[in-house]
Amino acid sequence: MPIFEYVCKKCKNQFEELVFSQDEQAVCPSCGSTRTEKLMSCCRSKVGGGPNMDSPAAQASPAPSGGGCSGCSGGSCSTCH
Ligand SMILES: [Zn+2]
Repeated sequence: MPIFEYVCKKCKNQFEELVFSQDEQAVCPSCGSTRTEKLMSCCRSKVGGGPNMDSPAAQASPAPSGGGCSGCSGGSCSTCH
């Protein structure tokens, strides 16, 4: 489970958060604000861009098509089986 560093935009508090989901919004433990920004520990110079720019999920293999063949979309025709 990855641990990310966050900074609170409201009170400038920095904290670490265990992240279960990539788009989970961290809550500041100091003031309870959700206006937090993720810090990339490896490359902090470009903080402020889109949060999904360097997401490892973007490089993952594409999702399976769902099992359908070119003749159907549900995977239930004779070609599929
Ligand atoms: Zn805060």
